Amino acid sequence: MYNLKGRVAIVTGAGSGIGWAIAMRLAGEGAAVVGADMNGAAAKKLIAEIRKSGRRGMSVEMDVSAEGEVKGLIRKTLGQFGQIDILVNNAGIADTGVLIEFEEQKWDQIMAVNLKGAFLCARAAAQEMIPRKQGRIVNIASIAGKRGVEFMGAYSASKFGVISLTQTLAKELGRHNITVNAICPGFIWTAMWQNLAKWFRANVPHLAGKSEKEIFEDRVKSMTPLLRPQTPEDIANLAAFLVSDQAGNITGQSINLDGGTVMH
Ligand code: NAP
Repeated sequence: MYNLKGRVAIVTGAGSGIGWAIAMRLAGEGAAVVGADMNGAAAKKLIAEIRKSGRRGMSVEMDVSAEGEVKGLIRKTLGQFGQIDILVNNAGIADTGVLIEFEEQKWDQIMAVNLKGAFLCARAAAQEMIPRKQGRIVNIASIAGKRGVEFMGAYSASKFGVISLTQTLAKELGRHNITVNAICPGFIWTAMWQNLAKWFRANVPHLAGKSEKEIFEDRVKSMTPLLRPQTPEDIANLAAFLVSDQAGNITGQSINLDGGTVMH
């Protein structure tokens, strides 16, 4: 559907959930994919799948919040494939708790991975894209970056930050023919949500009798006009479009992909 042959894409957090689906989709469109993840074994598994389908790929075990490891990711990508055309900043973590009781260390960790990690990766990748006068950056934000979310204050603040980063980078990189956009997913049943549901079950009294999946499904139904969750493949579809030639005039946008939950 989108021709990404000859492009090289880095996807962070590619070992699981949404990142996995994006990496598979970009590979399916012909891109060589670098799957970066803290979980090196998961990233290796992804790349084995990509290679099985006849595409090129490389896994890198790394932490997006560590500048040296981000530099290593860029160096390894250039060493293997010689260029960087696409960066998808997908790696992210979530944690729960009432904001006024939230621990500083947890706050710092969320900001380090979700916000600083996206900054470090975008900064390093853009430096390689600028001389070639082309590039695509997609940040996976969240609808939690569009309005505050009870019990997820740090996560929400980090995703507001990702949207701000998206807008500033789009303004600064536009003259180099680099587009920067964000996708704001709603509800997807990945490892991240499974952990969140565990917390809601243990901490919100009226949810104690429900299973984690029921908690997720109830939340989706009560908040989503389309009454259904999204899938990793939904996000991968939009990511593939945003990095394609067809989306060359779209930049600075933060697009909700959430069944209508948030409309701004
Ligand atoms: P997930 O299944 O937990 O996957 C996240 C991946 O990122 C994991 O493989 C994780 O590795 C990796 N990762 C975590 N910290 C990292 C770091 N410092 N450096 C490199 N990799 C790291 O989560 P997901 O649901 O697919 O989420 C992907 C993105 O979508 C996140 O940015 C999330 O905020 C966003 N999002 C998700 C939803 C949803 O409903 N699921 C909604 C809105 C936005 P480990 O397994 O080793 O931790």
